[in-house]
Amino acid sequence: MKAMVVTGLNQMEISNVEMPSIDENGILVKVHTCAICGSDIRIFHSGNSRVSYPAIIGHEIAGEVVETGTKVTKFKVGDRIAVGADVPCGECTFCEAGIGNNCQINYAMGYQFQGGFAQYLPLNRTVVNYGPVHKLPDSMSYEQGSMAEPLGCVLNALELAPVKLGDTAVVIGAGPIGCMMANVIKVMGASKVILIQRSRQRLEIAKKVVNADRFVCSGEEDATAAVMEETNGLGADLIFTACPSPEAQKDALLMAKNRAIVSFFGGLPKDKELVTLNTNLIHYKELFITGAHGAMPKHHQRAIELIASGTINVTPFISKSFALDDVREAFAYAESHEGMRAIVRPNERD
Ligand SMILES: [Zn+2]
Ligand SMILES: [Zn+2]
Repeated sequence: MKAMVVTGLNQMEISNVEMPSIDENGILVKVHTCAICGSDIRIFHSGNSRVSYPAIIGHEIAGEVVETGTKVTKFKVGDRIAVGADVPCGECTFCEAGIGNNCQINYAMGYQFQGGFAQYLPLNRTVVNYGPVHKLPDSMSYEQGSMAEPLGCVLNALELAPVKLGDTAVVIGAGPIGCMMANVIKVMGASKVILIQRSRQRLEIAKKVVNADRFVCSGEEDATAAVMEETNGLGADLIFTACPSPEAQKDALLMAKNRAIVSFFGGLPKDKELVTLNTNLIHYKELFITGAHGAMPKHHQRAIELIASGTINVTPFISKSFALDDVREAFAYAESHEGMRAIVRPNERD
């Protein structure tokens, strides 16, 4: 089969690799769509301790079951499915507690397990039994199915930092996930959503897909002052940092209302992870600070339901499709920040 193989830092090849095989507990998926995530770009440029070369990455996957092991009962040939990223081991303390994204082993598709930038994808017993693998309703396209992974991550973050009816929420960072998050927050009943983005160009792109009440270009105006202006000087009820920026984390504390929830949703690069924060802001404002990373299979399932029901519209996030042969171009497009998600279609040229 044809696959995009990462062979080292900044090195990829489109090559013919051996067709993957499955055992009695596995299933084989013909990949229809795999979207490019920011983390795929990071792995490509900087590597990851859970990825060893040669690697087939990609974890925002949808496709069709083409083979099942004799012991598999959950899926049958012909099922249309979506596959997410984090795979709980099913056995450690955290998996037992139902928080599989905190699994001590931390398996993920496109990391320790083969990813979706390939024509076929094998799912092993752990993935089939415990992983984010869910059937797609007929009404849902494969592209929409691929969007269930990033949406699931948004849902996990919103479970830890829940929106209450009438809240004012801030999202810092207008990448695809930040934009998606802003829209979900609005659907959840926030009366005001403020989206903050440093680059004007990117903010203008976000305006086309995000249902925010105010868009703030932090490169041109003081974002904290803008939030204060929108909240009668009180600050926001919820602040999500959806960007790899220590400055955003510092600003988030300044923009927070007393007793607000601040979610450090976006991780920071390794060389920037030590941040000096004014912890007296946390102390005096009685802030709740939380993190969030990845998603559990239940969030992936819920994301599919939200997309299928039309509650969350992910279509504006599907910007451009590429054939597997054009995967370099697809990565360049994703990195250009010109649109939202770039989708790779390993089995079709269109
Ligand atoms: Zn992703
Ligand atoms: Zn585990």
